[in-house]
Amino acid sequence: MWEPRQPIEGRRPDRFRPPFCPREDCPDHLFVGRGYRAKRVGSYRRKCDPRRVPRFVCRTCGRGFSRQTFSTTYYMKRPELLVPVAGMLVACAAHRQIARHLDCAPSTVTQISVRLGNHARRFHELAMARLKDIDEPIVFDHFETFVRSQQERLGIATPVGKYSWFVYGVEGARYRGPSRRSRRKRALKSLPQPTVPGAITESTRKTLCFLLSKTEDRLELISDDNPTYPAAIRRLEHGHRIRHRVFANPDRSPDGDRSLARARDRAMFPVDLLHKLVRHSQSHQRRETIAFGRKGASVIGRTAIFSLWRNFIKRVSERRPLPITPAMRVGLTATPWTWVDVLAERVFRGRVCLEAR
Ligand SMILES: [Zn+2]
Repeated sequence: MWEPRQPIEGRRPDRFRPPFCPREDCPDHLFVGRGYRAKRVGSYRRKCDPRRVPRFVCRTCGRGFSRQTFSTTYYMKRPELLVPVAGMLVACAAHRQIARHLDCAPSTVTQISVRLGNHARRFHELAMARLKDIDEPIVFDHFETFVRSQQERLGIATPVGKYSWFVYGVEGARYRGPSRRSRRKRALKSLPQPTVPGAITESTRKTLCFLLSKTEDRLELISDDNPTYPAAIRRLEHGHRIRHRVFANPDRSPDGDRSLARARDRAMFPVDLLHKLVRHSQSHQRRETIAFGRKGASVIGRTAIFSLWRNFIKRVSERRPLPITPAMRVGLTATPWTWVDVLAERVFRGRVCLEAR
């Protein structure tokens, strides 16, 4: 079982031993077990914190680093903002509102959200490496949003566990939506041309490829009648291992068949709930808002922050008193985690597979 660790900054300077070299091009970056040798060379104090930070020199590559290099707050001038900003980003506050509340510059919040997004993605990779296999049906759909203007659509592939409600991935697909722009705007040459042919198919293929790698036998996939999903399955090498159940989006007019609509809503509930929560919890994902994402990578990063919160921190149901999270349902953790727990240590991309052992 995965236990939360003590935050790096809270560890005593005289007890802290670097477990590996943080420099990615050093042979000891992939050091496993005890016995990594680094020489202690003094310490320093940061302006924001009077506590000592021990410094080291790697005996293999001869380059220096400090305890802060292993922390999620490395080279931050206001490390105390990391946890509150993370909490407020999933409490539907926009960057300027957060900045006003925490008394910092709005650009600081933007920078911290990028840092948190990168951490959330690596943390998710780590969680997926630790997860042995997926033994539940997957409910799959794309979350539809946009970046900059409503013509620049962004679909985010979200596979959700049918029983655990665990979010197994976040994969973006940028494409051009139907143009409703005026003739004048259409004539502007400076508008970007982000059309990627088959972006939705490709994001579906990538997601399913990953899900199949985590499934021993057959993967049960539940989705709506989006025609790109069968096309993506056909392009997969092991597509025959997927049992695809389609629930078409029914006619919801008064003349439509209500039983079909009910069956579709029941089958797709876990992913519909996730999309509702994203719209409810993130300011730039609301409808009719003046907050909107400016960069595709940042929007996907903030969705990763949301899915990290949904998987490890937020209870499955806040109405019921049981403290159960989706990560507990899939057997990753034993207790609900907090932002301090998930931000306790920096996750190095090259070491994800090693840390998962
Ligand atoms: Zn080194």
